[in-house]
Amino acid sequence: MSKFLSPEAARLAPYTPGEQPRDQQYIKLNTNESPFPPSPRVLEAVSREEVERLYLYSDPTCAGLNAAIARRYGLTSENVITGNGSDEILAFAFRAFCGEGKGAAFADITYGFYEAQAALFGLEARRVPLREDFSLQVEDYRDFPGTVVIANPNAPTGMAVPVSDIRWLLEENPERVVIVDEAYVDFGAESCVPLLAEHGNLLVTQTMSKSRSLAGGRIGFALGSRELIADLNRVKYSFNPYNVNRLSLLAGAAAMEDENYFRSCCRAIRENRAWTVEALEKRGFAVLPSSANFIFTKSGRLPGGELYRRLKEQGILVRWFGKDRIRDYVRITIGSREQMEALAETVDRLLAGA
Ligand SMILES: *Cc1c(COP(=O)(O)O)cnc(C)c1O
Repeated sequence: MSKFLSPEAARLAPYTPGEQPRDQQYIKLNTNESPFPPSPRVLEAVSREEVERLYLYSDPTCAGLNAAIARRYGLTSENVITGNGSDEILAFAFRAFCGEGKGAAFADITYGFYEAQAALFGLEARRVPLREDFSLQVEDYRDFPGTVVIANPNAPTGMAVPVSDIRWLLEENPERVVIVDEAYVDFGAESCVPLLAEHGNLLVTQTMSKSRSLAGGRIGFALGSRELIADLNRVKYSFNPYNVNRLSLLAGAAAMEDENYFRSCCRAIRENRAWTVEALEKRGFAVLPSSANFIFTKSGRLPGGELYRRLKEQGILVRWFGKDRIRDYVRITIGSREQMEALAETVDRLLAGA
C-alpha cells in the first residue's frame, strides 16, 4: 500500500474473487458461471449498429431493461433497479439502509462480499453462525436491530430456506429491511418475489450472471417496494448514474425476454446436478442438499485443500475456502454433462492414487 492510503481504506476487507486463469485451458467449475452461452436473442440485440452507438451515454434510468424485468416478475418498473452486477446493488442497499447503530447481520458462512461491503461502509457486522448441519434458522436473526441479509439459496452451501421462514422474519420485525439475495434461486429454490406485495421491508436481489449466462455482462437487479427502490436510486445517483452500459442494457432485456431458453438452461443444470451428486456419492463423497448451480461436498479421503490442488493439477478448477468449519469442503459449479463426466473420471483417478 502507498503512504497515501487513508485509514478508512486501510480497514477494508476486499473480497477475493475465484481464479480467472488466462494461462491454461481449465474445466472451470469455480465461479458458478453458466456453461451455456447467452440466449441467441442476446447476440442479435448486441449488433454492430449498437456498438457504433457507444459514443453515447447509456440510459441512466435503465428504462427498457427495467421494464423487461418488471414484466417478467409481474411488477412495475418502479419496483426495479438494475446495477452493474448484483454486487453493486448490494452496495447500494448497504449504503441506503445501514449506518451508525444500524449494522448488517448475515451468516458466518455465506457470500464473502457481505463482509467486504460491511467493511467498506464501516458497518457493524453480526455474523450469525449457521447451525451444525449448515442450515440457516431465521429465529437466529430475530432480535437484530439492523439489516438482515440472507443468501437464498446460500453460497457456498447451496442450501435453501423455505419462503415461509422468511415471511415469519419479515413479519416479526417490520421496522427493518430484510435483503434476500436470490442469485441462485432459478436453479430450484422458492423465490420471495411473491412476498413483495405484502411486505414493504423486503428487498429481493437477483443477477443475470448465473441462470441467464451473462456473468461478463454485469447485470444484477433488485425488486422491492417503490420506496425502497427510490432509496437505492438515491445512492446510485450519488455514485454512478450511468451504472449499466449500453450493450448490457440490451443484452439483459433480450435475456429476460427469452423465457424458453432460460428454462431449458436451468433444467439442464438441475439434471446435471442430480447426475453429479449421484456420481460423487457413489465415490464416497458427502454432498449438502443443493438448490443452486453448484454443490458443496467433501471427500471422505482427501482433505479439501488437497482435493482442490489435485483437481487443479488435472486441469479442473473448483473453489476451496480454507476457512474454519468448511475446510474439508470444496464448492463445485455444475457445468455441462461432458464437464461433469470429466470431473467424475478425474476423481476416480485421484482416489485410485490416494
Ligand atoms: C454471484 C453472486 C452474486 C452477484 O453476482 P453479480 O455477478 O455481481 O451479479 C450475488 N450474491 C451471491 C450469493 C452470488 O453468489
